[in-house]
Amino acid sequence: MTPQKPNRRAPQQRRKPSAKKPTQKKHIQKRSTTGTQKSGQRKRVPSRKSSRRIPIIPGRQNIKTADIRQDDIRIITLGGVEEIGKNMTIFEYKDSIIIVDAGIQFPGGEAPGVDFIIPDTTYLEQRKEKIKGLFITHGHLDHIGGIPYLMDKIGNPPIYARPLSAAFIKKRQEEFPHLPKIDMRLVEKDSKIKITDELNMRFFSVTHTIPDAMGVILETPQGNIIHTGDLKIDHESGVPLKFELEKFAKIGKENNLCLLTDSTNVDKLGYSFPEREVHENLKRIIQDTNGRLIIGTFASLLERIVFIIKAAEKLGKKVIVDGRSMKVNVEIAKELGLLQAAKHVLIPIEEMEQHSPDKIIILATGAQGDAYAALMRIANKQHKHIKIGPADTIVLSSSVIPGNERDVQKLKDNLARQGAKLVHYTIADVHSSGHAYKEEAGWIIKMIKPRFFIPIHGYHYMLRVHAEIAGKCGIKPGNTVVPDNGMLIDITDKGKKITPLKKKASAGIVMVDGLGTGDVKEVVVRDRKALAEDGMFVIVAVIDVKTGKVRKSPDIISRGFIYLKESQDLLNQTRLLVKKTVEDSTGNMHPINFDYVKDNIRDKIGSFLFNQTKKRPMILPVILEV
Ligand SMILES: [Zn+2]
Repeated sequence: MTPQKPNRRAPQQRRKPSAKKPTQKKHIQKRSTTGTQKSGQRKRVPSRKSSRRIPIIPGRQNIKTADIRQDDIRIITLGGVEEIGKNMTIFEYKDSIIIVDAGIQFPGGEAPGVDFIIPDTTYLEQRKEKIKGLFITHGHLDHIGGIPYLMDKIGNPPIYARPLSAAFIKKRQEEFPHLPKIDMRLVEKDSKIKITDELNMRFFSVTHTIPDAMGVILETPQGNIIHTGDLKIDHESGVPLKFELEKFAKIGKENNLCLLTDSTNVDKLGYSFPEREVHENLKRIIQDTNGRLIIGTFASLLERIVFIIKAAEKLGKKVIVDGRSMKVNVEIAKELGLLQAAKHVLIPIEEMEQHSPDKIIILATGAQGDAYAALMRIANKQHKHIKIGPADTIVLSSSVIPGNERDVQKLKDNLARQGAKLVHYTIADVHSSGHAYKEEAGWIIKMIKPRFFIPIHGYHYMLRVHAEIAGKCGIKPGNTVVPDNGMLIDITDKGKKITPLKKKASAGIVMVDGLGTGDVKEVVVRDRKALAEDGMFVIVAVIDVKTGKVRKSPDIISRGFIYLKESQDLLNQTRLLVKKTVEDSTGNMHPINFDYVKDNIRDKIGSFLFNQTKKRPMILPVILEV
C-alpha cells in the first residue's frame, strides 16, 4: 500500500496546553486526562453515560502467551490484517524469531489527534533474546514507519533491507536523534542470510510502486515460508511478463510450505493496470502539453516520480519538485543514483520564470486534497510562486483514497475555477495501484504452489476473498488460515498441519501522539471524542469549609456545547442546581468529602443538561475551598 497521511491540522498548529498554575487550592476532578493516570492503571471507569456512546479503543493487553513447541513453526500477524497499514509479521522456530516489516497506520476519525498507530509488540518484548533480525520488504511507511518507535522495545535487532529501503529508514531515523543507533545491514535480491544451522533467509524482487521492493523466503527444515510483501505482477493484456514467469516458476519448484501475500486489491476483478502503461500515458501528456504541466501524485510512488523526471529530461523539459515528502524522496533517489543523469533537469522553484512555461513540469504533493500540501496551496491561491491560469494543465496521477472524496472534489473545483485543464484517473489512465488484482493473486498462488496459505495486508473481507481465490487455485480446505491481528498460527506435525490457536498474542492498538508512545492513550482519545461530540462544561464553585455552603453564584465555562450568551435561562437553572446539589451533599458533613461532592455535581448536572439539551458535555467540576 502507499499510505498517505490523511488531511489534518499540521502538528505545529496544535494548541499547546495551558501551563497556568493554580493559584488557589483546587480540586479538579480526577476523571479528566490531566496526567492523573499512570501507565498500566485501568482504574478510571467512564461514566455510564459517556461509555454508552464513545467506544473504547483496545489498548495493549500484556498477555503472556504459550511458548512454541519443539519442531513447530509459529506465524503471527501482529499487524496488517483486519486493516490496511501497520504491517508486521513474525516467524518463530525453536530459539529464533524473524520479523518482517514494522509499519505504521494513519488513524482515521476513530482516534482524533493521534499521529499514527503502531503494532502491539508485547509478544516480541517478552522474547527479545530470540529475535534474529527485522527484514524489510520495501520502503513504504506502512512497512518501515514503526521502526523508530519499536526497535528500542524489542532489543534493537539488526535490520536487513535493500539500499533504497535502508536509505528511507536512515532518513527517518534522523528525526529521532535520541534513539540508539540502528544496526542496518544491506542485502540484495539474491542475498542469502544464515540465521541458524537450520534457518536461512533469502530474497526475491517484486513489482510494486517503489524500487527495491522484495519478498522474503525463510528456509526451514520443513520447507519455505514465503512472504511476498506488497506486490503486483507486470503483465501484457493479462499475460505475465517473462521475468515474472521465470522468477515465480523457479520459486515454485521448491518445497514451499506456506505463502503469505498481499490482499489489498484481490476483490478487484482481472489484472491491475500496468505501471508501464501509466508511464506511457504520462510521457504522452508531457510531450503534448504546450503550457505548464503540474503533476500531483503520491510521494511514495517513487518509480513513477523517477520516470517523470527521466521523461522530462528526454523531452528537454525542466522539473520543479514541490512538497516536503516529495523533495525528501527525490533527494534519496538522487543519492542512490536512481536519478544520476537527470540532475540538471531538476531546478529550484525560484528559477521557474527563467524558462518558457511549456518547458516546465511541477511535481507536487497533495493529490488527495491534503490541506497543507503544495497542490492545495496552489488551488487556494496561497502558493508563493505558482499562480494557475487557463494555459496550465494539471494531472492528478493518483486514485482517491476512501474518505478523501470531498477534499479531492474541492481541490478539483478550485483548480478548475481558475481555468486550468484537469486530467484525473477517471478520464485517462494516469494512475495504477501497486497491489495485485484477483487474477494476479490467483496466478501467484498457482505458481508458488504452497501447502498452506495465509492472506495478509487487508481488511478481513479482503482476506476472505483471497482465501476463496486460494481454494480455487489448489489450496486444500483446512490449509488456509484467515488471520486476525495477534493470532498464533502454529504449523505442527512436522509441517503437515496448520492450526490457529485459541489464545492470541497481545494485539491492541499502540498510538503515537507527538513524540511518545503510550499505553493509556485510549483514555485520551476517548476524551477527545467526547469533547468533539458534545463539548465541555466547567463548573467552578467556591465552598465555605465551615458551613458547607456555596459562597457565591457558581461560575460556568463551556466550550463546544451550547452558545452561552443565548442560554442564560439554562445557566441560571444550572447554577441553582449546583448550589442545591452542593448543599444537599455537604449536609452536616465535617470534614467535607470533596470527591463525593464533585461526583454528585457531575451526576446531577449531567442528567439535567441531557434532559434540557439531549447532549452530554464532559462535565468538569472545580471546587475552591475558603
Ligand atoms: Zn507498499
